[in-house]
Amino acid sequence: MKTRYDDLLDDLPNDDSRNCAPSFELFLQLPAVKALSPLAFNVSEATVKDVLAKLEQQVDQVKEEMATYALDVRFKALKLILAVTTEMTEKEIEDLDPDVLAEEAYDDEFFERPSSWLSCRHCGRHGPLLDLLKHLQTGCHKAHWWTFRFPMYLPVEVACASSAIFDLLKVDMDEPMTPKELNEKLEGHSLTWENAPRWKGAQRTGWRYLVRFPFLFPFLFPSLR
Ligand SMILES: [Zn+2]
Repeated sequence: MKTRYDDLLDDLPNDDSRNCAPSFELFLQLPAVKALSPLAFNVSEATVKDVLAKLEQQVDQVKEEMATYALDVRFKALKLILAVTTEMTEKEIEDLDPDVLAEEAYDDEFFERPSSWLSCRHCGRHGPLLDLLKHLQTGCHKAHWWTFRFPMYLPVEVACASSAIFDLLKVDMDEPMTPKELNEKLEGHSLTWENAPRWKGAQRTGWRYLVRFPFLFPFLFPSLR
């Protein structure tokens, strides 16, 4: 099944699409795939060949579910961003139709703006949606937890820390930027969090560390408890 999954990823048009695809663990949970698992058949491994043959018969449906998954990730990310960066109410966000993703206002550039950057729920890494998806697919050690919770979040404290850093730089957060470009802008400068707790490490500098702070010390932040 893993080999077939890898083939399906290879069929996708580019790396961005691959990063938006479900991880292998989640692929196995797609309805069309799950229904084919030996466990669902309740039979021995001897039928794996049959299962794979059946997968081929409904590969179009599997591909469709993979595409739906990618859209769903984007839609959930959009809702997280709107909840923290706009005045929209919880209900207005809940009532949004996934079709809004087709609007120009929420195109790729929208997700590349620093005001739309999100955090990895497993390690606190902060960055644009596609970077985080790549990080989750290839880098984050705890990515196997994907099946239980949406792997990204945006604590309001992180959004505020990020906004303070961009204010300091006098850089517009609504202009698309990459984390690498932010590093370049900060080169030669150091950041100090003056009222950070005084234990070891808490006053380290660097934007990545500062925006990870709520992740590292959630007990200090009421909204994350
Ligand atoms: Zn991570």
